[in-house]
This record gives sequence, structure tokens and C-alpha cells, in this order.
Amino acid sequence: MGKITIAIDGYSSTGKSTIAKQLAKALGYVYVDTGAMYRAVTLFAMRNGFIAEQHKDVAALENSLKEIELDFHYNKELGFSEMYLNSENVEKEIRTLEVSQYVSSIAEIEAVRIKLVAMQQKMGKAKGIVMDGRDIGTVVFPDAELKIFMSASPEKRAYRRYKELLDKGEEVDYDEVLKNVLHRDAVDSNREFSPLRKAEDAIEFDNSDMGLEEQFERMYNFSLRIIAKQKDS
Ligand code: C5P
Repeated sequence: MGKITIAIDGYSSTGKSTIAKQLAKALGYVYVDTGAMYRAVTLFAMRNGFIAEQHKDVAALENSLKEIELDFHYNKELGFSEMYLNSENVEKEIRTLEVSQYVSSIAEIEAVRIKLVAMQQKMGKAKGIVMDGRDIGTVVFPDAELKIFMSASPEKRAYRRYKELLDKGEEVDYDEVLKNVLHRDAVDSNREFSPLRKAEDAIEFDNSDMGLEEQFERMYNFSLRIIAKQKDS
């Protein structure tokens, strides 16, 4: 009763998933990280030799799409859902810089988007969902009751991602991470099919100088206001 759909879009490494997870937990909603789905397809393409440096076999990937099964399994200990690719937990593998380097190139393939968008729409059918990505408010759920578009300066975003990778024990170079963030933004914003853009009715949210607590408070309040309105009408 009174459940809504919350769509969170924005640039790479704006902290969408951190906030989306917290929000879903506080509201008792399901959280779906659509970036993880594009990352899992990318990992599949890498493992099968469909994508590498200077190489991309779109036809071969398209022919294999039916062999790709994606699932989220909730991990009680971690408190969030992990990504499974053909029954294998790939949560760690999909977060590497190598996958980040290829993912935008895979995400621009129309057949990949058609498959993943259909899955996402099915997951959100019953509402009560917080979904983050690049095209959630524009393509996946254009009727979402709450749409947020997140941004922050590229340097701040790269620094956050850099710290995250270091904490995970990956050996990374800050300039390399910055280059990747800028590259993904450019490809994501300029691709032909469902490019990254702010939905007209999305609330813009620049968190360059905002702590996590403040971001959460604000979004939680937006959500409660809209949920209350649903109940009234
Ligand atoms: O959110 P995350 O950074 O993990 O997403 C990885 C990549 O997946 C993005 O850079 C983008 O190319 C692609 N993506 C997308 N549409 C979505 C979610 C992610 O194209 N809804």
C-alpha cells in the first residue's frame, strides 16, 4: 500500500548505490543495482573473448545473450544482494578497473540494453523498489514517482572510486581512475541508445560537498513526502 518507485540516475561514482542501498533499507524496499547487471554481461564478454583491447565482437555477444543468466541473491551478512552470473557469485570480479574499462562499450549495444531493461522492468513491477543506473528515470521507469539525478565534480568522484579500489586491495593509480570516470561519462552520455541524461522531472542532486548523512536525510525526506501523498490520493 502506498509503495512507490524510486529511480536514481547520474554520473559514474557519484555514490548512487551507497545512498540507494540506505534508502531501500530504511523504507523496506528492494534495491537493484543495474550497473552490476551491465558489469556482469561485460565479464561474460571478456571471458569469452568478445571484448578486449582493440577488439569487440558485437555479433558474437548478441548470439550468446540467451546463455547469460543474471540473478541477485540477498546476502544477509552483508545486507545487500550480490550479483550472480550463470549461478556464479561474481560480485568481486565485476568491480575491478578492468571491467570498468570495458563496461560502457558493452552497455552501448542495443540488444544488451533491451535484454537488461526488460529484466529490470519485471523486477520493479510491484513497486517498492529503489533502482540506480543511467536510464532508470528516462527509459526503465519513466513513470517513477521519485527521480533523482546525481552529480559531483569528476575529481571528487574519481577520488572516491580510487579510495574504494585501494580499500579493496586493488593496485590503482588516481589518474587512471579519473581517466576511466571521464571516459565512461563521455561514452554513457553520447551513446545512441538511451544515453545518460537527466529526466525532465528528476531532482538534481550535486553531492560534491555533501556528506553521506545529509544526502540520506534529504532523500529520505523526499521519499516520505511522496509516499504520504500517494496515501492521500
Ligand atoms: O553504476 P556503475 O558505475 O556500476 O555502471 C557501470 C556502467 O554500466 C556505466 O558506466 C554504464 O556504462 C553502464 N550502465 C548503463 N545503464 C545503467 C546502469 C549502468 O548503461 N542503467
